[in-house]
Amino acid sequence: MKKHLVLLGSTGSIGQQTLSVADKFPERFTIAGLAAGSNIDLLEKQARLFKPAMIAIAKKELVPELEKRLRDTNVRVLGGEKGLLEMVGISRADWIVNALVGFSGLRPTALALEEGKNIALANKETLVAGGELIMTLAKNKGLDIVPIDSEHSAIFQCLQGEKDNKIYKIYLTASGGPFRGYSLEDLSRVKLEQALKHPNWVMGKKITIDSATLMNKGLEVLEAKALFGLGLEQIEVVIHPQSIIHSMVEFIDSAVLAQLGEPDMGVPIQYALTYPKRWQNDFKRLDWRKIKTLSFEQPDTRVFRCLKLAYEAGEAGGTMPAVMNAANEIAVELFLNEQISFLDIPCIIEKAMHKHKVILEPSLEDIKRIDMEIREQASFFKNDLF
Ligand code: NDP
Ligand code: MG
Repeated sequence: MKKHLVLLGSTGSIGQQTLSVADKFPERFTIAGLAAGSNIDLLEKQARLFKPAMIAIAKKELVPELEKRLRDTNVRVLGGEKGLLEMVGISRADWIVNALVGFSGLRPTALALEEGKNIALANKETLVAGGELIMTLAKNKGLDIVPIDSEHSAIFQCLQGEKDNKIYKIYLTASGGPFRGYSLEDLSRVKLEQALKHPNWVMGKKITIDSATLMNKGLEVLEAKALFGLGLEQIEVVIHPQSIIHSMVEFIDSAVLAQLGEPDMGVPIQYALTYPKRWQNDFKRLDWRKIKTLSFEQPDTRVFRCLKLAYEAGEAGGTMPAVMNAANEIAVELFLNEQISFLDIPCIIEKAMHKHKVILEPSLEDIKRIDMEIREQASFFKNDLF
């Protein structure tokens, strides 16, 4: 049976890779909708190639220009968050691929589930900020959330056929990013361009910085907690610089299952689209003759404080992970604009968390309000640093 996909964030790193996977199987997938933030050149190109019924552009003022460019097609152009949400609700789509970046992914995920659509989820911030709500919604509706994030895909794959077996622990692997082995003093001198160079993966800017601070792994700890219903003490992060083992599950009998492969996001993206099946592809295959070493280290959370802050946010629960996420988004943006230094990132997050009074069992409205409140204080956090 053909799957009808709506792809949110189609112009991004995951979005473009999703389209190239879907393009290889035209008899299995149709693209019912595409959404992007502001990149109308690429969105126009994608719309011409994949012929979706609708596209949505977050920057509303770009709608007339996009409509003008696509006048010779039947593609309907929607604008703003409202447009994106309308597209998520369109009846023809049965799967939503959420490759948006940041908190903007939460509302569309919640709406998609309410509308009875399964989700292939790359947008980890959704599960950090609103994990419990989203997982409950999916469960109540009997819908699938299939992770695209490579570590979570690895664990999801290891858990197939293990429904009634208890997990002892999971091990999320991390490459360690560009600053592995750095001291705090080394980190105090790093520049934006160094942070933007990831050793093993080419990704969007935000996740690249998150990987350099290890906040990416912190977000992934909270993503895994929600997705697999685990306690924080069951989630361990291990630095594995080769990025060959994508993550591991240890069961109560001490057996450990791992998923391995070349570091290529095409694999978890394709698995999310074809789940529960596997299809033949031409991705690079693992050649054990060329693998010299698989090594492991413990992360240094004294130097990479973001990872520790994520565990603390998870311990506090309720709205705290949403606060941590919003403060991180603000801090990363400031760092990308070269307004703060690399080590200011954890300081801003810690300050925001310190000030916050947790609301336990928040509603979606509570989470949205708190996310907004933290963003409104961005300039305060920045000025308070000096
Ligand atoms: P990118 O920055 O490359 O892409 C983000 C996409 O979202 C772009 O299409 C962008 O549009 C769009 N977008 C941004 N804001 C909005 C908005 N408000 N409304 C609509 N569209 C918007 O990010 P990545 O692809 O790297 O990452 C996407 C998600 O996947 C993140 O949550 C990340 O953590 C996760 N992830 C990414 C991996 C990777 O390898 N890249 C690996 C694992 C997880 P525009 O181009 O127009 O700005
Ligand atoms: Mg990951």
